Amino acid sequence: MSNVTRLPGPISELWDWQRLGSCRGRDSAQFFHPDGERGASRGRREAAAKSVCGSCPVRAECAAHALAAREPYGVWGGFTEAERLRLLATGWEDLVDKRGCGRADVVRLERRLGIRPVAPTRTIPAQRPAATPIPPHNAAAR
Ligand code: SF4
Repeated sequence: MSNVTRLPGPISELWDWQRLGSCRGRDSAQFFHPDGERGASRGRREAAAKSVCGSCPVRAECAAHALAAREPYGVWGGFTEAERLRLLATGWEDLVDKRGCGRADVVRLERRLGIRPVAPTRTIPAQRPAATPIPPHNAAAR
């Protein structure tokens, strides 16, 4: 169960980040496991959720929230349940700026876990067609 006593009070600016999450409007089943999910299917679902988090503009706030609240379930801030448990055990508070709504240094948290940073989701631009070779200048006039 989440520990809400560690969270900031109900000041709207402190919670505004939630409106900007890349997961907003997505199926929550991508972020929270169904009963009995294990093994490879769990790994694939978590990897897909973490990929969304990788390009989320409020990942730092989300990760700070999840650790402070000890969110027990789901992928938050690019960290799985198991990863957050490891951070809670090994320490995380030194990597969270608690001013304002709180922002976590997610790259250093990932390094602490020894995991590869979550790569931001990138759109690969369509490849341009090869340029047509330009004939030598005034070749026809020679
Ligand atoms: S970091 Fe992930 S879980 Fe958190 S708001 Fe962004 S997309 Fe959602």
